[in-house]
Amino acid sequence: MLVSDQERLKLDIQNWIEKYGANRSALVATLQEIQRKYYYISEYAMQVVADILDIHPVEVYSVVSFYSFLDNKPKGKFIVRLCRTISCEMQCKSRVARQLENELDIKFGETTPDKRFTLEWTNCLGMCDQGPAMLINDNVHTKVTPEKVHEIIEQCKYTFGPHALQKSKEDLMSNTSETTITNELTFSKIDAIESLTKALAKERAEIISDLGASGIKGRGGAGFPTSVKWNLVAAAKADKKFVVCNADEGEPGTFKDRVILTNFPNLVFNGMTACGYTVGSKKGILYLRGEYTYLYKYLQDVLEKRRQDGLLGKNILGKIGFEFDIEIRMGSGAYVCGEETALIESLEGQRGEPRNRPPYPADTGYMGYPTVVNNVETFAWTSCIFSNGAEWFKAFGTDKSTGLKIFSISGDCEKPGVYELPMGIKVSELLKFVGGEGAKAVQIGGASGLCLPASEFERKVAYEDIPTGGSVIILGKDRDMLAFAENLMDFFVDESCGQCTPCREGNEKILEGIKMLIEGKCSIRYLNELIGLGETMQFASKCGLGQSSPNAFLSIVKHFKSEIMGRLNNHPINV
Ligand code: SF4
Repeated sequence: MLVSDQERLKLDIQNWIEKYGANRSALVATLQEIQRKYYYISEYAMQVVADILDIHPVEVYSVVSFYSFLDNKPKGKFIVRLCRTISCEMQCKSRVARQLENELDIKFGETTPDKRFTLEWTNCLGMCDQGPAMLINDNVHTKVTPEKVHEIIEQCKYTFGPHALQKSKEDLMSNTSETTITNELTFSKIDAIESLTKALAKERAEIISDLGASGIKGRGGAGFPTSVKWNLVAAAKADKKFVVCNADEGEPGTFKDRVILTNFPNLVFNGMTACGYTVGSKKGILYLRGEYTYLYKYLQDVLEKRRQDGLLGKNILGKIGFEFDIEIRMGSGAYVCGEETALIESLEGQRGEPRNRPPYPADTGYMGYPTVVNNVETFAWTSCIFSNGAEWFKAFGTDKSTGLKIFSISGDCEKPGVYELPMGIKVSELLKFVGGEGAKAVQIGGASGLCLPASEFERKVAYEDIPTGGSVIILGKDRDMLAFAENLMDFFVDESCGQCTPCREGNEKILEGIKMLIEGKCSIRYLNELIGLGETMQFASKCGLGQSSPNAFLSIVKHFKSEIMGRLNNHPINV
């Protein structure tokens, strides 16, 4: 690199660090800017970042090496990432993969000799109803066919630079509008300004009591009561408090937050703003997954409009003394950052490794301050509750799981897409809505959820029975359950942060065991050991990822015994 190039890079880095707050929390955002402009993060760039932030270069390297969308080696100008997660796998992504390899004359993991293209696998892109899906830099392509691959690659070859491919806002929106929103969502009937006006007219305690009366629990799947979380942060004594919206939906089979953010961003931002008012926070952060970078500019425009309309900034909607603004921070391709403490680590410029809990974010969250972390859907529903009232919300669902829920439904059914349905709905009823009757199995809760056989389709989707963040993947009668389990476990091997042994080693061992089963090389004794290992991981892993990663395998072994037993090797000598 020429000296002038180095000076230019240094200047850029200084500006970016300044822009993102001139402290360690600026690290990930600065690295993303370097990646975007220079296509990789060189040793020199890492050294400059370390010098300015006064940290050791090894720390910068450890962050770069953690996130799959940050590279420390030069790659092609066009990084082509094909989704290999289960819904795209079920939609024949391998034909697209072969075409990409032929078209570019390289294998996955390689870069073309002219340094124009790099071909990589990636995990869920949140386009599960429109697979196979792929990203080229920040642009998403859906329903990709081998023919489309040829067209898209030709288009890349004849553009002047990667940014020339940037899609218009209309094109970006069309990716979302192609998602079937089958029944009209309540969100479309809510007047965003009216809902915030109603919330800000109340006392803080009244807002918390309304949320409590509605019974709303976090829509991410864990089901923690929203009113309790807001109350904890409201009651905390601290100079600063934060409101974080988790828009890092990376659970395979989940794409509803993308649809909510695209179609109803103001409901989400209203929910965050009302939360800021309730808990006494001036600052909100939307943590948007790197796979949705194409929504960044659009959401920034929505925020800017809100500032102009007096819905962000000082004295919001005339409420004297109430000040709140929202910043967007990007993820960098790490599923584990959907775990709230890992997300906070990432925001603080660290590797996205989950923390020990307690303390919980409501006590010690972003930068050590009390922080509310809710997901996109939860914030959107709070806006509906402010508008329509707690009783309206509570009228849906069950006693323990009140309200409505947005589901992302994909796989073997006639009408994949986004559905609003009441909590407590039976799996069989849900299948009828989407034309998925006759399914062999349903995976509820994404890769970390449960795999139910037809005999369990009368169970309820509810916190008290089958909890879910909203992902439903339907498996038709011809699906191979072991191939399904293999794909899910492959995902976890790739996404485990590696911090704790049960998860780091356990996922690999179970994946290895599934491959042995597929090849007919696994004995009954070894299968029992794998089951024991999975159960150990459920209670010994540090965070939800490792605690839930064996779920699908264990439920498949339990419910599809004949399929598994038929593939066992009865000669333990091979184990
Ligand atoms: Fe990391 Fe897995 Fe342990 Fe969670 S369970 S901390 S993802 S290694």
